Amino acid sequence: MDEFSLINKYFDWDQGIGDDCALISIDHGKQLATTVDTLIEGVHFPANTSAQDIAYKALAVNLSDLAAMGATPLYFTLALSLPSVDKKWLADFSQSLKALAKQYNISLVGGDTSKGKLSITINATGFVEKNQALLRSGAQAGDPIFVSNTLGDAALAWQQIQKQQTPSSALLKQFNRPEPQVVLAQSLLGIANSCIDISDGLEQDLSHILTCSKVGAGINLEALPLSSEVAQHIANTQDWCVALAGGDDYELCFTVPNAYINRIKAIEKDLDIKLTKIGAITKKKGLKIKGLEKHCKSYQHF
Ligand SMILES: [Mg+2]
Repeated sequence: MDEFSLINKYFDWDQGIGDDCALISIDHGKQLATTVDTLIEGVHFPANTSAQDIAYKALAVNLSDLAAMGATPLYFTLALSLPSVDKKWLADFSQSLKALAKQYNISLVGGDTSKGKLSITINATGFVEKNQALLRSGAQAGDPIFVSNTLGDAALAWQQIQKQQTPSSALLKQFNRPEPQVVLAQSLLGIANSCIDISDGLEQDLSHILTCSKVGAGINLEALPLSSEVAQHIANTQDWCVALAGGDDYELCFTVPNAYINRIKAIEKDLDIKLTKIGAITKKKGLKIKGLEKHCKSYQHF
């Protein structure tokens, strides 16, 4: 199968792919937010991961970056490197990618394919009203710090996979199909004064907020939101690093001025989502983690 038939069969959905570039019109008064992420077999997902899960995660991690900025997803491009043309794999991949794209109303507008080790690169773009984007730089001393849902589930799944154990379906779901917090992020617009998505682990990602905002923070281990499985794992092993530095959570970590605490409670109720206060921003620089004996080794890309 040549590249053009592959594109026509699997990736020419309803927006029309064909010219050399995608032309995008945007409304006046809006800003584009754009991000790119690559997933490589053996590095970001195990070799036996299904085509559906790979497609889902490749798009979801990009949607998570758009969420971190409070952006509304608009369109994405896909660069796919494949060892061979496996029609069943491509059909599964395309179907799953399309389903998630539809859920978040984002269009595939272009891409590239090549022969090589399995790797998926997605560049996703969204929009925000001018000067409304959630940034890393607005946290102020005294602001409470929140995280969405639970931490460490995906990291525990990955740890178990590497030990040839089979994670529970709940842990696997967090690892293979993390839910990008796009809806939550949009309800935080005008409320949160800093925000990041947790991809490399809370410790490292929160530190990015602290550096950009030129502040410090104190968080409390006991306050971290954990699923029962992660809580049990930590009780057995004292391995707090799954929750602090495991990465792959794709939850949001954000700060809000104290005056907006009640808005957070309302969002929690409206969206039926768990938002947990884990600590507060301090004037004194650095990240203090109450209850932690030694700092974790964070996820390193190299
Ligand atoms: Mg990110």
